[in-house]
Amino acid sequence: MERLQGIAVSPGIAIGEALVLDNEGFRIPRRFLPRDAVEEELERLNLAFEAAVAEVEHNRQQVADQLGDDYAAIFSAHLQMLRDPRLHEEIEEMIRSRHYSPEYAVSRALRRYAKVFQSLKGQYMAERANDIFDIEKRILRNLLGRSREELSQVTSPVLVLAHNLTPSETANLNPEFALGMVTEVGGPGSHTAIVAEGLGIPAVVGVGLFLVDVSGGDTVIIDGDQGQIVLHPDEETLARYRHEVEEQRNLAVKLGTLRELPAETMDGQSIQLLANIEFPYEVKQCQERGADGIGLYRTEFLYLGRDDDPSEETHFESYSSVVQAMKDKPVVMRTLDLGADKMRSLPDPEDERNPFLGLRSIRLALRNRDLFRIQLRAILRASTLGEVRIMFPLISTIMELRQARMVLADAMEDLEEAGIPFDRDVKVGMMVEVPSAVIMMDRFVEEVDFFSIGTNDLIQYCLAVDRSNKDVANLYTAADPAVIRMIEMAVNAATGSGVPISMCGQMCGDPMYTMLLLGIGLRSLSVTPAAVPEVKRVCRSVTIEKCEEVAERVRSLESARVIKTYLKEELSKVFPEFPL
Ligand code: PEP
Ligand code: MG
Repeated sequence: MERLQGIAVSPGIAIGEALVLDNEGFRIPRRFLPRDAVEEELERLNLAFEAAVAEVEHNRQQVADQLGDDYAAIFSAHLQMLRDPRLHEEIEEMIRSRHYSPEYAVSRALRRYAKVFQSLKGQYMAERANDIFDIEKRILRNLLGRSREELSQVTSPVLVLAHNLTPSETANLNPEFALGMVTEVGGPGSHTAIVAEGLGIPAVVGVGLFLVDVSGGDTVIIDGDQGQIVLHPDEETLARYRHEVEEQRNLAVKLGTLRELPAETMDGQSIQLLANIEFPYEVKQCQERGADGIGLYRTEFLYLGRDDDPSEETHFESYSSVVQAMKDKPVVMRTLDLGADKMRSLPDPEDERNPFLGLRSIRLALRNRDLFRIQLRAILRASTLGEVRIMFPLISTIMELRQARMVLADAMEDLEEAGIPFDRDVKVGMMVEVPSAVIMMDRFVEEVDFFSIGTNDLIQYCLAVDRSNKDVANLYTAADPAVIRMIEMAVNAATGSGVPISMCGQMCGDPMYTMLLLGIGLRSLSVTPAAVPEVKRVCRSVTIEKCEEVAERVRSLESARVIKTYLKEELSKVFPEFPL
């Protein structure tokens, strides 16, 4: 049994069979073969070797023609290795006598060779090790012949273990079959993590390299509460986790009874409990959990996983379906928040060494006004169908906000001229997710109808810590006193001027923070749909006076660690069944 620690990003426990994707997204199958499959698999292995040899021959010839034989020599070395009878014997032996799958045998044999080169110091030896990894990948590609596209086609329950998954790949997972996910890389605030939470499947990211220790079909446990995974669990561990799964199911049933009840504190303060969505289909979940509306619709997900830009009609279809389904409940449409963290192809990574400080979000929208206007027209058209609000992301200067409002005014004018109806008084707000916006709140209050605090970004910009980098994940926390002070500054500035303020970062979906946030003065929270019942449960178990005491105590504490310990203690007093 092996227990590994990563970063918990979506709660819950999942137990099941592993589906392993290596760092190129190839699906690594089972380690062992049935006895009667050996001959057939050896044949498959030979074909893969032959195909690999043909590819390398072709490359060698091309390079020799264009650059000469000296440059082609590297391919000659690859060919020599691919044809080495000892390598073939070794791999075949593993398949025949140990019944290893060809993929596993190839990886094992070649990685052993590579390790030898790696242990011999020097640049030359390191390059030889890389050559061997190259050969391994080439044979695996020929053996597997399929890519990660398959992920959406999984039709039996699995736990997806991958080096990395993009947000759109994660979104394509079908929660009916993908019971949980783990990645080797990724940080706590990454969009992959957020999408996994949206799907409501247990997820752990940033585990570090572990995929070599697991193969398809192995039993794995994902503990999304503690951020751990267990490989090859023993019977006792399995039994313990199964019991925990049962308890969580019971708790979910209990919380389900709160659905029709308001999020109201014991002393009668009503709290608006909204939900965050990425896709229209999530509306159903919001309704099932009794959310008071959509506090954040991440519309940019319409762009992910497709090659062309969506048309105005495509935008409109998505938006109108959400707005109509929510009836008279508010739907806050956040305009495009695209950036290099969400899209692989955009912009050129060569020019975007710091994607989070680069051309993302509202900046990208303002540089691509045609694209932006198309979206705004679609939102405006949907505004006649319900309670639509428009929210601009990542506003860092007043001028940026004014420019965005100008593009919106243009879009309104277009529609008016064309006689297309829209709500002229649609409310316009902005996200507060950059420290400069917090500092300038006294100016921003004059220019918007509402605010929403985006802690996912605010944390990274406040603490200078990349939200998607596992190596600095220990610093990325909403419990940092500086983050809490920033939130409080924003809330005070907005409420002092009578401008409504909400929060939609992942922080407010964690019940540990609910009392603190109410104590600071927030009365509206927008959380992952799955978190609605838990946060509601806390709201209904506390008084505002108690929450204010909690906030006061937190103000006196100096470190994230101490603050977390205190908040957990307080939460366990009002919500003892919550798994901490
Ligand atoms: C945030 O930054 O807190 C937020 C809600 O937006 P996103 O996570 O999409 O950047
Ligand atoms: Mg953000």
